Amino acid sequence: MVQLVDRDQWGARSPKGMTVLQSRPKGVKIHFVGDRVDPAIVNSHGKCLALAKSIQKHHMDTNLWGDIGYTGLACPHRQLLLGRGPGLLPAANGNGLNSDHYAIMAMVGTSGLVVPPDDMLHGLVDAIHWLRRLPAKEKPCGQEVLGHRDGWDTDCPGEWLYAWLQRGCPRPDGGAPPAPGADMPPWPGRVLEYPPAAVGDDVLTWQKQMRRRGWPITVDGSYGSQSRDIARQFQMEKGLRTSGKVGRDDWEAAWLAPIT
Ligand SMILES: [Zn+2]
Ligand SMILES: [Zn+2]
Repeated sequence: MVQLVDRDQWGARSPKGMTVLQSRPKGVKIHFVGDRVDPAIVNSHGKCLALAKSIQKHHMDTNLWGDIGYTGLACPHRQLLLGRGPGLLPAANGNGLNSDHYAIMAMVGTSGLVVPPDDMLHGLVDAIHWLRRLPAKEKPCGQEVLGHRDGWDTDCPGEWLYAWLQRGCPRPDGGAPPAPGADMPPWPGRVLEYPPAAVGDDVLTWQKQMRRRGWPITVDGSYGSQSRDIARQFQMEKGLRTSGKVGRDDWEAAWLAPIT
């Protein structure tokens, strides 16, 4: 059975934002690294943790997302590194596509480690079933299993995994999925701690703050270009900035500025 790896265990940074899912997702979308993955990762779980950290850094510092974009990351050792975790909107599926599916990334790439080791496939199957059987309050998902390329212009999750999805995600040994109620790992509870932007007694997310300011929010929580445009517009109006790119400091200033 897949083993859950807490954010503390892989050294995750604190997220900058979150959006709670309003309804149950229809299923899961599978992703891959989309770059070279060092084949030595198969013999070193430490490399799995390092890869997760580098992906989180890219998502937060380059994409300006609030956190790593994935719900979880499946490594070659039948372990699932918890990203945003269940119950929260992922950011990896593409704008407008995140509330429909959780996002699980498999640690294979376009070169180096391309074919998932058996334990990674077992971990993926386990993780999909785990997400389907969560307690109701954690938003268990439906039966769909799709690739990132379904609905978005990308090669992700690569030819090998996409073919595997189309075969119905079989286990390498042809084994059955875990029986309901079998030894699924218990959900450790809400492990994410987000720095709140406090206004009065409220704890507000970026989107809620923007809504309260009357800005139309169409972005679904991935903190992409639409969020940046909204932040830029807000900052210009409030005199927080006059031109140029939105930097991280500006971003935080806009987040923390009092609502007037
Ligand atoms: Zn992807
Ligand atoms: Zn590993």
